Amino acid sequence: MATSPRPIQKIIEPQEVLEGAGVRLRRTIGTRNLNVLDPFLLLDHFASTDPEDYQAGFPMHPHRGIETVTYVLEGLIRHRDSVGNSGSIGLGEVQWMTAAGGIMHEEMPQVRPEGIRGFQLWVNLPAALKMTRPRYQGIAADEIPEIEIAGGARVKIIAGALEGTKGPVAGIAADPAYLDVFIPPHSAFKHSIPRDHTAFTYVFEGEASFGDSTLSREMVSQTKLVVWGEGDYIEAATGDTPVRFLLVSAQPLRQPVARYGPFVMNTREEIEQALADLRNGTFIWSEPG
Ligand code: FE
Repeated sequence: MATSPRPIQKIIEPQEVLEGAGVRLRRTIGTRNLNVLDPFLLLDHFASTDPEDYQAGFPMHPHRGIETVTYVLEGLIRHRDSVGNSGSIGLGEVQWMTAAGGIMHEEMPQVRPEGIRGFQLWVNLPAALKMTRPRYQGIAADEIPEIEIAGGARVKIIAGALEGTKGPVAGIAADPAYLDVFIPPHSAFKHSIPRDHTAFTYVFEGEASFGDSTLSREMVSQTKLVVWGEGDYIEAATGDTPVRFLLVSAQPLRQPVARYGPFVMNTREEIEQALADLRNGTFIWSEPG
């Protein structure tokens, strides 16, 4: 069967937001321009060497109905949660947290000379899993395989598989791929993505031309989000400048989204229940029965 390249559907410029107790972020998914990219609900990019931009952090706060994926490129975030996990997410490390039925946690970037740099992505959970037991996967940098593929690109595989190498994050409902891709100058990259999956690329260093080499290509420079349209694979090529981007894809849920801050459920009533649970001290997930 013939395969076709995915066209660029749209390019989103980040919006500056202040979140938590006052952390400066660049947000692309979860903005007026792109409220939801099913199953992705939010993409925040933090990058600063000025402590004023990040030291206030994210003190204790709840989440329900989603997964949060934190990937740190530089610096260190200390965290602890109501499930009993605590520790830090440092250089090259990933925290894949399934908040599901309810978690409270704290995420505090530490003041360091290198500042803080990284991403947080929110992935929606299907209705059937929203009220299940929270789960936590902390992944060390050396657990994330990096492979070099034909054409010269180097790819860190956080979730999903590439040329037979699997990423360490497993058992996620949306069957996600989460790749950190570096393409050196004058090189090309081609990558297959299941046709029915949503896919985006977040360009955070350098520039490349993206899109179909036979029809339409567009030069995209840092810092921008590329949303991919329908097709079987994506293509990117560099000129004199290298590029680095996240390439993330997953199965869309096609379910109603009711969203209020850190809670993402299917109905208004479920949001009201989350708020009532918070007031009543019954928010944190516990074994049913
Ligand atoms: Fe959080």
